[in-house]
Amino acid sequence: KVKESGKNNCLLYSEEWDNSSLERLKLQHDLKQAVQKGEFILHYQPQYDLSSGSIVGVEALVRWQHPVRGLVPPSHFIPLAEESGMIVQIGDWVLEEACRQNKAWQDEELPFIPVSVNLSIRQFLQQNLTEKVAHILARTGLEARYLDLEITESMTMDVNHASICLLELTKLGLNISIDDFGTGYSSFHYLKKLPIGRLKIDRSFVRDIEQDPGDAAIVAAIISMAHNLNLQVIAEGVENEAQMHFLQKHQCDEMQGFIWSAPVEGSRIAEMLKSVAAVEYKKQELS
Ligand code: C2E
Ligand code: MG
Ligand code: MG
Ligand code: MG
Repeated sequence: KVKESGKNNCLLYSEEWDNSSLERLKLQHDLKQAVQKGEFILHYQPQYDLSSGSIVGVEALVRWQHPVRGLVPPSHFIPLAEESGMIVQIGDWVLEEACRQNKAWQDEELPFIPVSVNLSIRQFLQQNLTEKVAHILARTGLEARYLDLEITESMTMDVNHASICLLELTKLGLNISIDDFGTGYSSFHYLKKLPIGRLKIDRSFVRDIEQDPGDAAIVAAIISMAHNLNLQVIAEGVENEAQMHFLQKHQCDEMQGFIWSAPVEGSRIAEMLKSVAAVEYKKQELS
């Protein structure tokens, strides 16, 4: 089924992978091995302040370096990892690696920025999540305020659980963002109840912002609602200038998207941060 392979090719699992249980078992087996063999890597996508243009954070995004299939995107293995429960081990690794990498950038005296990590529902339902996160922060030496956890609206449906869990987590000093905001089947009830710091506007609303008055209205409304609730707001999937100008005009705080950078390796982020540091240094010298 693998037609072609190559180190940097993003090979897709074929359609059949999704349907045949044998193939699914194989993928599951491969995934289990991948955890043991350490075949996952993280890429990072910069997040920019919309008024200054500087990098204010990065999102960690997992990829699977499959020995035969090449670089496999998360959409091809996260769903199965979630179903099988393997996401917990993968997620533990992602969390620790993202914290380790962020601390390593700080140790290189690069500008300090938070790293965002995506949490899956299984991870969120773990009894010992806060303990785990606290241990990882202690082990890596990263201060909690440089960690941001992205959860989705679906995880807030059980408001009582979410409220206990998020209060514990935020007591550590980290930030919580709501990913893919606007796409979940949830009420706004949780927005005022839970200790959330930031909304991430789903890229499906950003995509047609210029052509679709409905999308434009929704994005403008999310930004203003976020600000009225004292939340930060970031737009995902910004690909062109028109979208960026719309967001600037409506005072969106931050953005993330291919217009500035796709997710890249950690070493590229270090280079980007280095040039940020150089600019900051020049500014200081001039003032
Ligand atoms: P997400 O958390 O919403 O991440 C943003 C996704 O949008 C990333 O896809 C990113 O590459 C893509 N993206 C960024 N800018 C643009 C843009 O301008 N245009 C378009 N079309 N796309 C853009 P990626 O890396 O393939 O990740 C897909 C999803 O997989 C993530 O969506 C997240 O839900 C999940 N995921 C990734 N890493 C992890 C992880 O470590 N743990 C868990 N539980 N889920 C993860
Ligand atoms: Mg995310
Ligand atoms: Mg998202
Ligand atoms: Mg998503």
